[in-house]
Amino acid sequence: MTYDIPAGARKRPGYFSSNPFADMRGRDNMQKNDLVELRITDFTQEGLGVGHAGGMAVFVKDTVIGDLVSALIIKVKKTYAYGRVMRILEDSPDRVTPPCPVARPCGGCQIQMMDYQAQLGYKQEKVKNCLIRIGGFPETMFAAKAGIMEPILGMDDPFRYRNKAQYPVGRDKDGNPVAGFYAGRTHSIIDCRDCLLGVPENAKILDIVLAHMKKNRIEPYDELTGKGLVRHVMIRKGFASGQIMVVLVLAGKDLPGRQDLVAELGQIPGIASIAVNINRQNTNVIFGEETRVLYGKGWIEDSIRDVCFRIGARSFYQVNPVQTEKLYGTALDFASLTGKETVWDLYCGIGTISLFLARHAAQVHGVEIVPEAIEDARENARINGITNAVFYAGKAEEILPEKYQEEQIRADVIVVDPPRKGCERSVLDTMLAMAPERIVYVSCDPATLARDLKYLCEGGYTLQKVQAVDQFCHTVHVETVVLMSQVRD
Ligand code: SAH
Repeated sequence: MTYDIPAGARKRPGYFSSNPFADMRGRDNMQKNDLVELRITDFTQEGLGVGHAGGMAVFVKDTVIGDLVSALIIKVKKTYAYGRVMRILEDSPDRVTPPCPVARPCGGCQIQMMDYQAQLGYKQEKVKNCLIRIGGFPETMFAAKAGIMEPILGMDDPFRYRNKAQYPVGRDKDGNPVAGFYAGRTHSIIDCRDCLLGVPENAKILDIVLAHMKKNRIEPYDELTGKGLVRHVMIRKGFASGQIMVVLVLAGKDLPGRQDLVAELGQIPGIASIAVNINRQNTNVIFGEETRVLYGKGWIEDSIRDVCFRIGARSFYQVNPVQTEKLYGTALDFASLTGKETVWDLYCGIGTISLFLARHAAQVHGVEIVPEAIEDARENARINGITNAVFYAGKAEEILPEKYQEEQIRADVIVVDPPRKGCERSVLDTMLAMAPERIVYVSCDPATLARDLKYLCEGGYTLQKVQAVDQFCHTVHVETVVLMSQVRD
């Protein structure tokens, strides 16, 4: 990969790794349009490669850990800078040609150009390093043999794993309706109907929708003018059930020729529900409040092991069912339930983990901030005939302390699965006061995980097991399940 180096670029030998004095030059020296040489050693959360030059961290898009690149500095801040790759001087041994032809412009997969086994290694190390650096846990705890960290659970085939796709609909440069993804930081859409992370049915469904739009002269919605009708197409497939749901998000109520569209989509095996959602707002939020069912029940079913879920157009549901089973299986395993335990599941979403655990526990209490998700959780408990799970809508940091102080609730096991920012201090304090035998922490951010584990360990728990799971292959994200138990005197 090479790019034209713009006129005005200055080669700054002081910033080259071959120069032994490189790091001794002051930070203030780096300027826009400098050309620097960098070895990429890490990724940011956003998937930018990180290298160092002149005492500065330099963030460079489209690089892989191990690459040696020549980069043009495009922006300089106090302690860091942004660079653009000009030339890859040495390919990382982990660099591969991404199977997806639009991996770069799309940007959805930040690390598709990295060999999958190397991706797994990177994620394993990331979790381990956070636990050591932020959590303060000794490195020996994570020794390859006899350590508490199992090898990360990856996928045999890390493509076509997503059960949900949301395609924006717009216009190409000839004015034809297209579906695809937004070209970097713009509102124009690049035609791409077959994302390799999604199911093959997505492309067939989009072909039918776009052909229907053309035939019936239905306009795509235009954000600038607020005119046009079709905004997004959302497709969801239950991997266990094979049932597919299609939702067209419209800026108005009426879809011309909708019976024809329903008939055509109905030809695709598995179509179980077709709906329109109405969103008239000028906003980035995809869905509006109102959903009208055109065909089917308005929901599809899916199951993870022996628990069945009813998933509506707007329900939250994990997007990688194959890995979700491994994630929840690990959480269940770590919880070591015998059937006698009282379990709390904080940040429970639609109750997936709660219901997964309920069959093996005496009682499960789930807490979640989104009221609609709690309604789904209760409904899912009902359709599975699970009567020992109760759900509370509210903030974990309010519900848990309240229940603890007012009702003296207890727990044998507490499971938490918080958003990226981790648990509030008051949640951790109440957990410590409740003193469950075991805590199972499911996390989507190793840094906040490490911070919270440190606090819990200072409060009387020990780390027993750590298992990373690759839920989002080709992105920089990693999920982790951790088991902690009470220290016995
Ligand atoms: N355990 C679920 C969902 C995990 S995602 C599953 O596996 O499907 C994290 C969940 O935490 C989201 O559903 C989010 O709505 C919820 N959440 C965010 N902040 C919260 C808070 N302060 N209290 C309770 N739930 C919260």
